[in-house]
Amino acid sequence: MIVVGLGAMGSATAFQLAARGVDVVGLDRYAPPHVHGSTHGDTRVTRAACAEGAAYVPLAMRSHELWGEIERATGSDLFTACGVLMVGPGSGMGSMHGTDDWVGATIDLAGRFGIEHEVLDGAAARARYPMFAFDDAAHAYFEPGGGFVRPEAAVAAQLMLAERHGARLHLDTEVTALRSTDAGVEIDTADGTSFAAERVVLSAGAWLPSFLASPELRATFTVYRQVLHWFDVAPAWVDRVSVEQLPVYLWSFGAGATDFFYGFPALDGAEGGVKVATEQFSEATTADDVQRDVSVEEQQSMYERCIRGRMAAVDDHALRSATCLYTVTPDSGFVIDEHPELPGVLVVSPCSGHGFKHSAAIGEAIAERLVSGRSTIDLSPFELRR
Ligand SMILES: Cc1cc2nc3c(=O)[nH]c(=O)nc-3n(C[C@H](O)[C@H](O)[C@H](O)COP(=O)(O)OP(=O)(O)OC[C@H]3O[C@@H](n4cnc5c(N)ncnc54)[C@H](O)[C@@H]3O)c2cc1C
Repeated sequence: MIVVGLGAMGSATAFQLAARGVDVVGLDRYAPPHVHGSTHGDTRVTRAACAEGAAYVPLAMRSHELWGEIERATGSDLFTACGVLMVGPGSGMGSMHGTDDWVGATIDLAGRFGIEHEVLDGAAARARYPMFAFDDAAHAYFEPGGGFVRPEAAVAAQLMLAERHGARLHLDTEVTALRSTDAGVEIDTADGTSFAAERVVLSAGAWLPSFLASPELRATFTVYRQVLHWFDVAPAWVDRVSVEQLPVYLWSFGAGATDFFYGFPALDGAEGGVKVATEQFSEATTADDVQRDVSVEEQQSMYERCIRGRMAAVDDHALRSATCLYTVTPDSGFVIDEHPELPGVLVVSPCSGHGFKHSAAIGEAIAERLVSGRSTIDLSPFELRR
């Protein structure tokens, strides 16, 4: 089998297939982990109660187990369970990834799945984490078992395991064409090498649209530029932002999907700053045309629109910023399904801004499905036509 794209999804899939004894070839246009796609920037939020829908909860929970197994197998540091604090402006408000009242939906799912959590009002959340100016009407959910995963290390570890199990990885090898044949799928690459396999997993992230011919199909996936910022820690708070003191935080301060920011504790001492980000869904781009540079005006706008007056621990000076790509579907759900135009190709597009936390379990489920015809975790909610 061939895996095209060895980022979050492709590295997990290549590892899980190879671990089941499958003969795996992996192809990537760059050398993952890299900064050109959707899987960079030091940290990704993970939480078991996923307001995006009940179908996601088993994937997140299984991934939490798998990060531990991969850490033990490789000696990598992947998952830090520093807790996740999610705050909404009040009942019925605050939308994220297609879910209205996402804090309420999270609380509901945590109850249904028996996920350890606490529910706090704004005053209690503020008393516990005084660097945030939550108002009294806010409602908050705290999941102690959540936290963050290191995406670059996770990709590197899974590619290492894939190779350990015999996978052959061809990096800096751009796939230029996929063709279905009677025997399976043929692949052309930019350096003139060809490959063929019975089955191909297409996990090309934000480049997926270039492998879709029909305009309607391509319109299912919209690529949005997102920006991550690392701001200085305000001097009064340098001793209170470590992973031992500060959880991951997500705060909807208004009703709109972009009245929102999230962030992480300081990972490398306060000198490295704290990473904070918001989301945007108004300006679409493509993986090849995206503006990679981040202007000082964008950094200032992030601070003024989201941070000022809300998070006292963050100073107004950005140390650095980075761009990253969301590949978003109309309902913000994943797509894991047969390619409608290319028999033999499985499309794996779990992004919409919330895919990473599920990636280890998605790789496992895809490998199970390709090897035995069915996966332990149900992937049918991610069919293209729904
Ligand atoms: C700013 C930002 C913040 C995020 N935060 C979170 C979060 O906190 N929690 C969470 O769960 N998720 C989060 N996500 C989403 C998550 O990171 C993505 O869902 C996930 O990384 C997508 O992985 P992927 O494998 O689909 O894409 P990628 O990791 O980008 O992999 C695609 C790979 O395909 C390769 N490729 C593309 N075209 C070709 C070609 N023609 N030939 C060969 N190789 C090719 C690329 O080089 C790349 O390596 C965030 C995403 C972004 C951008």
